[in-house]
Amino acid sequence: MNNHFPAINLPKRLLLGPGPSEVDPRVYRAMIQPVMGHMDPLFLEILNQVQEMLRRSFRTRNAITFPIPGTGTAGMEAALINFIEPGDEAAVIVGGVFAARMCEIIERCGGKLNRFDVPWGTAADPDKIRQALRGKKIKVLAMVHSETSTGVCQPLEPIRQIAEELGALLVVDTVSSLGGLPLEVDAWKVDVSYSGSQKCLACPPGLAPITVGERAAEVLRKRRTLVQSWYLDMSMVEKYWSAERRYHHTPPVNMLFGLHEALRLLQEEGLEASWKRHRGAHAGLVAGLEALGLQMFVHDPAFRAATVNTIRIPEGVDDVRVRTCLLQRFGIEIAGGLADLKGKIWRVGLMGLTATPAMVLQLVSALEFVLAECGYKFQPGAGVAAAEKALAS
Ligand code: PLP
Repeated sequence: MNNHFPAINLPKRLLLGPGPSEVDPRVYRAMIQPVMGHMDPLFLEILNQVQEMLRRSFRTRNAITFPIPGTGTAGMEAALINFIEPGDEAAVIVGGVFAARMCEIIERCGGKLNRFDVPWGTAADPDKIRQALRGKKIKVLAMVHSETSTGVCQPLEPIRQIAEELGALLVVDTVSSLGGLPLEVDAWKVDVSYSGSQKCLACPPGLAPITVGERAAEVLRKRRTLVQSWYLDMSMVEKYWSAERRYHHTPPVNMLFGLHEALRLLQEEGLEASWKRHRGAHAGLVAGLEALGLQMFVHDPAFRAATVNTIRIPEGVDDVRVRTCLLQRFGIEIAGGLADLKGKIWRVGLMGLTATPAMVLQLVSALEFVLAECGYKFQPGAGVAAAEKALAS
C-alpha cells in the first residue's frame, strides 16, 4: 500500500459555478480562531449575534431563526419533515432538480405529494397552480425561489397568495437567493425558509440557515407523531438556540465563527446594496454573453435569477472541453447542466464575492479566449465591450 499522504496544497480556483462560491478572506480568518466550548458565555453571545444578523438577512422577526449544521439539503429536510406527518398533503412546484428533491423528501416522510411540474427554464403560472390545487387540503406548499439547476427565479408573492387561500404553510428554498436576491420573509408571509452558507453569503459549505414563523411553529407543537429525524427535530434543536440553552448536539463552532463574519460583511454592505450589486453583475454578464451570440437558457428576463446564470451551449461546441479549458488555463470553475440539462447548458454563479464587474469581465474575456479555441465564431472583443458598457450604466 502507498504510505505517502501528501499535505493538501491545491491551486486557488475562481469559483464561478453555482456554488460553492468564493469565501471572503475575513471569513477564513474568523474560522481559524481557537475552538470554544458551546456553552461558553462568549460563544453564546456570538450565537445571539448570528441569529440577529440572520433575521435581518431573511427580513424577519421570527424567533426560530438559526443555522443548522449541514448543507442546504439539511435545511430542506428540516423545513419539510418538521411540518409534514404521514398522510398530510403537500404540494411542490417543480421546475428543476432541487424542487424534485423536495418531492423525494416529502414522500420519504409519508406525505401525500401533489407535484406541479413546469417546463424547466420557465416560471410557474400562479393561475394554473391555483386551479390544480383548488379544493385540496394542502398542509404545505413548497417551492424553490431560485432554482439553481435552471436559473429561474420564481416570483414569490403570487404563490404566497395561493398558500393563503389554501390555508397551507409556505415553505421556500432560498439556497441560491438569500443575500443575493430580494427576499422579504415577513412581508411576503413565508412560513419557513432555509438557505445554505456557501452561496451568496460567501462562506464555506456546512451550515443551513433556517427561519420558522409562528404559524409553522404552532404546527410543529401540535404534531401527533415524532419528527422522523432526531437530529433535525426543530423542536429540540430550538432549545439550544433559545434562552434555555439546552444541549442538543455540539454545534460546528468554527463554521459559526465564519458565518458570523460573513453576516457582518453583508450587514456592512447593506442587504439592498447587495441585491443591487447582484442585479448589476448579472446584467453585465448577460450583455457580454449575448454580444457573443450566446443565448440565455431562461428566455424571459423577468424570471432570470441574477445569482445563477444559465447559458445554452451553442451547437457544435463541446461542453466539457470549454469547462476543462476554463479550469486548466484560467483556474475558473463554471458548471454544466444537471439531469436533462446535462450537455445543454452552462451554469455561472455570480454570488456573494463574485457578483462584481471585475469577475464578470474576467469570465467574459476568458470565455472569449476558450470559445475561439473551440472553433465558435463571434466578433472578438464584442463580449467584453458589451459587458463593460452594461456594467458602466
Ligand atoms: N436547493 C438549492 C436551490 C440548491 O441550489 C442547492 C444546492 O446547490 C440545494 C438546495 C442543496 O444544497 P446542498 O448541496 O448545499 O446540500
